[in-house]
Amino acid sequence: MEDEKGKLYIVATPIGNLEDITLRAINTLKEVDLIAAEDTRHTLKLLNHLEISKPMISYHRHNEEIRCDNLTKELKSGKNIALVSDAGTPGICDPGEEIIKKCIEENITIVPIPGACAMINALICSGINTKEFNFLGFLPLNKKLRKEKLEEIKKSNKTIIIYEAPHKLKTTLNDLNEILEERKIVLAREITKIHEEFIREDIEKLIEKAEELKGEMVIIIEGSTQKEENELNNLSLEEHFNFYKNQGFDKKEIIKKIAKDRNVNKNEIYKKFI
Ligand code: SAM
Repeated sequence: MEDEKGKLYIVATPIGNLEDITLRAINTLKEVDLIAAEDTRHTLKLLNHLEISKPMISYHRHNEEIRCDNLTKELKSGKNIALVSDAGTPGICDPGEEIIKKCIEENITIVPIPGACAMINALICSGINTKEFNFLGFLPLNKKLRKEKLEEIKKSNKTIIIYEAPHKLKTTLNDLNEILEERKIVLAREITKIHEEFIREDIEKLIEKAEELKGEMVIIIEGSTQKEENELNNLSLEEHFNFYKNQGFDKKEIIKKIAKDRNVNKNEIYKKFI
């Protein structure tokens, strides 16, 4: 027997530039029966731009629980629904998780419609290792939880991605400066918008200009190599080289790092690699 339930489409929308929406996303928004939006007024602007007219219902943090019930009822009655947030991919620091869990419980099909996401676009242009990373979303404001997160960042050997609001940037950079030592940091700002920029500077310089930096931003931090330093010297030179290569460093940087770890002159290491 054919499944008479509707489907829930998780539709990514632009993070600034309105052209960053896929044909499939546009067609999905045109074809569904209802759009559940984080902020209906905000989504209306996008729909007007796309010349789509569609019934909308709000789905945000403060009504998530009750809306989950309404939406699953609609889905069970056969309606297809698109879920959108104000920007980018729903569920990524945006509402979405709850309705998705509920749909899984109720055996309702969930379909991703991929598109823009700030953290991925910040990461890919950062120049920092993209092979392994930890996305932490916004750092907690609660002192104890924040300290724990900072400790996690300090120890992490993976690239770290953080979302931040401009008015909290300076405080966050100061907190990071306490733990980062010489790790690279990149600030990706206003991605896909007119003032898009990727600032690749020392954290101290970033702190100096933090108050002038406005708009939306993502912080990308290089993973730590501290933890392994003792273990590194037990590796063969080739393994030691590959350890840094896998973290995205180039040959020159790797030779410098190996020489530092082994406390030898970098020319000595260089000679072994030619
Ligand atoms: N769901 C979104 C996504 O897929 O990226 C994220 C929503 S979250 C509420 C908003 C945060 O994402 C901002 O505070 C900022 O850290 C980041 N962000 C969103 N748009 C951005 C942009 N155009 N440039 C840089 N960061 C952005």
